[in-house]
Formats: sequence, structure tokens, C-alpha cells
Amino acid sequence: MRIDIATLFPEMCDAVLKTSVLGRGIKNGCLEVCTHDIRLYTENRHRNVDDKPYGGGTGMVMMAQPVYDCVMALISQHKARPRIIYLSPKGEIFSQEKARELSREDGLILICGHYEGVDERVLEELDAEEISVGDYVLTGGELPALIITDAVARLLKGVLPNEDAYSIESHYAGLLEFPQYTRPEVWRGRSVPETLLSGDHAKIQEWQTQKALEVTKSKRPDMYEKYIAQNPEILSSGKKRKDSK
Ligand code: SAM
Repeated sequence: MRIDIATLFPEMCDAVLKTSVLGRGIKNGCLEVCTHDIRLYTENRHRNVDDKPYGGGTGMVMMAQPVYDCVMALISQHKARPRIIYLSPKGEIFSQEKARELSREDGLILICGHYEGVDERVLEELDAEEISVGDYVLTGGELPALIITDAVARLLKGVLPNEDAYSIESHYAGLLEFPQYTRPEVWRGRSVPETLLSGDHAKIQEWQTQKALEVTKSKRPDMYEKYIAQNPEILSSGKKRKDSK
């Protein structure tokens, strides 16, 4: 998969893309992520990328032309038309399900807005879909673009050690994850649950399923109700939740 991030601040993204699991995945060739400076596509002498909004008001609006030319140049570098996504607080709220859907694509172009956002006409012209990372407003689309890149990347083959690394995690199959523990066995008088030390894999799995149900019920009752409605047998069987999607 290739992800292109079109932004006025590529350096903001580059720092994150070099780091940790995501950085290693890119280095190992599991995915390609390229950042692009929209400012390089301006046609005016002063390299202006924004202007005052029609109708008045505070703030500036990113002009259509540089955004359009940047995205068109990127599209021409893909074999098939990539998904074009504008990060926007007006968009569909991003979710684990959306991350899975996007992870099946060969190419994504993520457009980061800044200031008051981009001229609406460029979104219409590019037929861009809009994705939001939550009901709040950030100063730019760079952090949302990195959130999407990170969530999608960890689902790609080779980024994490195996499918289990993400398929038991919160949200993957509709539940939150069970609690995790590591050494030492006792810390400040608190012991690791005995079942986890038993070596009995069936029992451990049953414990994990039970705890995942308990955690979800207490922290996200909305998710719990939905999950139980779709998987009523879980209450009696303690079936492995990874299979339940
Ligand atoms: N004037 C816009 C509005 O009220 O809808 C907000 C513009 S915001 C200050 C600047 C840019 O940050 C947006 O164009 C978008 O790219 C990005 N952004 C801000 N909040 C976001 C969110 N919750 N999800 C995704 N992108 C966001």
C-alpha cells in the first residue's frame, strides 16, 4: 500500500513516520508513506497557499489550485485511482472498522487542511471523502492523517508480528481488550491473576474472554449491548472472541 499525505507542514508528519512500529514497518517495506508540500504547487510568485474567505470572517482559506495540482500529481503516480480523503471535522467519524476498510486499498491520498480549511470547490472537483477523528476541532489535518496512517498500517501484513497482535485488541471484534500484565508477578502487593500463571491455555482464553466482556460492560455499555445482541452465545460458551466478527 502507498499512502500520500498532502500538507503544508510535511516536517510535522515526517518526524512521526520515522518512529517506532510505524517507522519500522515503512523501513521494512510493508507500506510506503510519502509526504508532499502543497506549497510547492502554487502558481503565484509569493507561494501563497491561502486567502481571505468570501463573505468575510476571520481566518484564511486554503486555495483550490495548489491543493488540486498537488493531488492530481500524486494520482498520476498511482497505478489505479487511490482513495482521496480530506481530513475534516465535518467528516465520517474514523473507527477501527474504517481502518480495516482502508487497509484493503492499494493507495490513499490524505489531504490535510489548515486555517479555516480548504476551498469547498476542490473537494467537489476531487470527489474527496471526508473523515473526522472526533467531534472536536484541531489546527490542522496532520495529526488526523497520522492517526489514520498508524491505524491502517498496523493492520498490514508484516507491520506487527502476527494477526493475533491486533485481532484480540480493543475494537477489532466489537469488545475492549482484557487487562494485560507483565513481570514482576507481585508489584506493590498486587499479584497477577492466578489463571494467567497456570499455563492452561483453554482456561487463560476463557479468563480473557470473560474479562473482555466485563471491561466492555463497565467502560462502554453501548458496545457491550451491541456485542451481546450479535453474539448471544458468548454469555454461555466463553467462545474465543477473535472468531466472532
Ligand atoms: N473551519 C473548519 C470547521 O469549522 O469545520 C475547521 C478548520 S480546522 C481549524 C483546520 C483543519 O484541521 C481542517 O481543514 C482539517 O483538515 C483539520 N481538522 C481539524 N479538526 C479535525 C478533525 N476533528 N478531524 C479531522 N481533521 C480535522
